[in-house]
Amino acid sequence: MKGWLQAADIPQLETIMNLWGGSSAGASIESAVQHPWSRGTVFISSASAFDMPKIDPNYLGLDADISILTSGINFVRKLVKAKPLGDALANEVSPGADVTGDKLTTWMKGACGSEYHPIGSCSMLPRDMGGVVDTNLLVYGTANVRVIDASIAPLQVSAHTMAPAYGIAEKGADIIKAFYSTPADTTKNQTLTTGALPSHTGGVTTTTSKAATTSKASAASTFVVSWATLVGLLVLPLFL
Ligand SMILES: Cc1cc2nc3c(=O)[nH]c(=O)nc-3n(C[C@H](O)[C@H](O)[C@H](O)COP(=O)(O)OP(=O)(O)OC[C@H]3O[C@@H](n4cnc5c(N)ncnc54)[C@H](O)[C@@H]3O)c2cc1C
Repeated sequence: MKGWLQAADIPQLETIMNLWGGSSAGASIESAVQHPWSRGTVFISSASAFDMPKIDPNYLGLDADISILTSGINFVRKLVKAKPLGDALANEVSPGADVTGDKLTTWMKGACGSEYHPIGSCSMLPRDMGGVVDTNLLVYGTANVRVIDASIAPLQVSAHTMAPAYGIAEKGADIIKAFYSTPADTTKNQTLTTGALPSHTGGVTTTTSKAATTSKASAASTFVVSWATLVGLLVLPLFL
């Protein structure tokens, strides 16, 4: 985990600018944690499959995620002062330049939301770590039930999750094709052991009674932008 956090080529934060920040004269810049360590929960709420499950994303549940997102907000505050962007933006209206330290943490906890990249509710992990599927995507305890979607990823990727979902689907298709072309192997239900895992999965603390889920928390700061400079902002993406 330490190596992963320190690796220069593994982004920890994503910064996204949009022009719909709070008012017609505003712009927002979002900062999103790419590898949240906080784990949420998903529970069925009744015996009926038609009732919505109870989902608690537990955003910013761990101090590590708060620290990383704070770095993201500080980076955005630096970015908006840099030229030429700084010339186009007037002042920070939300949360406000004076909101720092504990006040910023409180604001982030109240303002953060999803980046819509949920994963992990059927994690490929050892069963005793809360895993749901093995390395053949087979649900533990079943002979031929597989989960092949984004939910099997136990850790977030530094990317949006559509492409990884396609990758998981391709792998799943290969596994199923191999399964049916080699009947002798069909009784094998490969079980993960902790020793077989990459070391960075050791930080996941799921339990067998809970399905863990994680989605990237993000918070957007809003800055006032004048109409005179709006054209400049619209042109800016052409150069990025
Ligand atoms: C608002 C939003 C914006 C996003 N934007 C991006 C983006 O810009 N780029 C990107 O890379 N990713 C984006 N994502 C993430 C991406 O869409 C998901 O990671 C991806 O769709 C996951 O694929 P999946 O197959 O795992 O799950 P899903 O696409 O959610 O597919 C699950 C399917 O299972 C069906 N289903 C559920 N329960 C049952 C049941 N009981 N019986 C039968 N069928 C069932 C659902 O109807 C659904 O069709 C976005 C997600 C959201 C919500």
